[in-house]
Amino acid sequence: MLRTAEITAELTGQLKGDGFHALHFGPRLEFAVDCCICERTGRTQVFERGAERALCSGSRSGFARHYTAGRIAAYDTTAGAERLALRALVDFWWAPFEDKKTGAPCPAAPSHPWVRLHIGYHCPMAKESGRASLQTNLARPYDLRCGHCDAVLATDATTPAVRLLA
Ligand SMILES: [Zn+2]
Ligand SMILES: [Zn+2]
Repeated sequence: MLRTAEITAELTGQLKGDGFHALHFGPRLEFAVDCCICERTGRTQVFERGAERALCSGSRSGFARHYTAGRIAAYDTTAGAERLALRALVDFWWAPFEDKKTGAPCPAAPSHPWVRLHIGYHCPMAKESGRASLQTNLARPYDLRCGHCDAVLATDATTPAVRLLA
């Protein structure tokens, strides 16, 4: 069955003041899916905006990386003076299975609601671009700093939310 998950995330801080770093969400995200193709729960799958399929990382023992039915169906970002927010809808194919390693039936709700989002920026001091990421399992709040000039880019205070819509 086709499932849709809503992913929301936000960063706060002085995003448009002095030392503007043009912080933005990148086109790629990684999301933990209970994969009915390699029959393992909580597999990291890579979704890219505009791509017609997703890439499942498979598992170390057994199934190799493989493409799978999944896509980013919607991707809306809001860039304000003090808040950068993302709302993405991710479609993926799901079917019941028993986990190949543990033998446990895959739960109906996602077993590992985990996501990693990528952040891009441009440092006005170094005149170079940089990258950072946000993910579910981090201690918060913490300050995201520029890899070039060490300025605080934003504060990551809110855990990205993953919600199954259908
Ligand atoms: Zn898989
Ligand atoms: Zn910088």
